[in-house]
Amino acid sequence: MKLLKRGNGWNIKCLCTGDGNGGGGCGSTLLIERGDIYLTHRYDFTGDHEYFYTFKCLVCGVETDIEETSVPNIIRRELLDEYKEKKRRENEALVLARRNN
Ligand SMILES: [Zn+2]
Repeated sequence: MKLLKRGNGWNIKCLCTGDGNGGGGCGSTLLIERGDIYLTHRYDFTGDHEYFYTFKCLVCGVETDIEETSVPNIIRRELLDEYKEKKRRENEALVLARRNN
C-alpha cells in the first residue's frame, strides 16, 4: 500500500457566491477541502490587515471568502504560515534583485 496524499479529513460544503469578492458567483455547491483554500489579504478602511480564507470556484472561476469561523484553527494557522513564508521569499527575491541592479 502506498499513501499518495494524506487527507486531514476536513472539508466543507460551500456555495459559490462571490462573497467578499464583489459577488457574481454561480450558485454552485462545492465541496471545499484544505488544498482548495488559500489566504487572501486586504487592508480595511482603517489600514489594518485583514485575512480571508478564499476558494476559487471550478465552475465559474469566481472567488468566494469562507467564514473564518468555518475553518479549523489548525488549518488557519497553516495557511497563515504558508502565506508569511511566501511573502518572506518574495521580499528576499526583491532584495536580491535590487542588489544585482
Ligand atoms: Zn461559481
